[in-house]
Amino acid sequence: MKSLTEHLWFEVPTRRGFLNITPQVEALVRRSGIQEGLCLVNAMHITASVFINDDEPGLHQDFERWLEGLAPHEPLSRYQHNRTGEDNGDAHLKRTVMGREVVVAVTDGKLDMGPWEQIFYGEFDGRRRKRVLVKVLGE
Ligand code: ZN
Repeated sequence: MKSLTEHLWFEVPTRRGFLNITPQVEALVRRSGIQEGLCLVNAMHITASVFINDDEPGLHQDFERWLEGLAPHEPLSRYQHNRTGEDNGDAHLKRTVMGREVVVAVTDGKLDMGPWEQIFYGEFDGRRRKRVLVKVLGE
């Protein structure tokens, strides 16, 4: 079995944002040389997500509005977690809703996804460097 482990680094300049990271993941699958297997992509921070959905700007605005409705950033006093001196209580909740990781099948050397599926990095407490782990396993 072959395997490849890499970290992708992101620094989103705003508090929140979504990045389409599909091209970077595809490049790692190619570099792994596998034809059949699995690709795991997970955020290594508890205030960021990796998820799969459509690369459509209106949908991203809908996610932003929906998440702000579920867990608004302010007032900061709303969150017990912010009593630690942090201001990211909302970001932990948003991360949990949007998920930690995705696993995508690799078939014939390519990510085997539906026609509109794209892999996103979801940032909920940005303005600092954060890592995403990519592990490709197969033969
Ligand atoms: Zn925190």
